[in-house]
Amino acid sequence: MILKADYEAKTVFEVNYDKLKDSGIKVIAFDLDSTVMKSKSGEFSKETLLLFEKLKKDFSLLIISNNHNIEYISKAASQIDFPVIAPAKKPATSISRAFLKEQNIAPKDIVMIGDRPLTDILFGKLLGCKTVLVDSISWQEERPVVRFVRKLERIVNI
Ligand SMILES: [Mg+2]
Repeated sequence: MILKADYEAKTVFEVNYDKLKDSGIKVIAFDLDSTVMKSKSGEFSKETLLLFEKLKKDFSLLIISNNHNIEYISKAASQIDFPVIAPAKKPATSISRAFLKEQNIAPKDIVMIGDRPLTDILFGKLLGCKTVLVDSISWQEERPVVRFVRKLERIVNI
């Protein structure tokens, strides 16, 4: 299987949300770390919170994260008013599937947006939803070794 996302964008701010809306997407599932929150920052930037507000007019929002630090996750969840599924164990889908089933959300109505091909994009493929691969929200500040691993992960096909 080639881990090619349906769409790619520089960051979550550059995703073509109008196109997603036109293609029938109703729910946006974001990865947390490095996708909508700077790694280890514990806080959404004002810009990200504004993006969420704007998107809420057209979509239901969700965060699906592998972060298993309960304190960190509750702090993140306290800054927003939509569900955070964590730890989700992506690319495995069973935890998220249970939530989606309970909420009556069909995978075809979802887009998964994340920065990691081997977790976020693979998860989306396994779930059967659309996927968008983005670069890290803080790509300008990442160390060279992190940039290198990102590049590697983007050329690995499984
Ligand atoms: Mg991430």
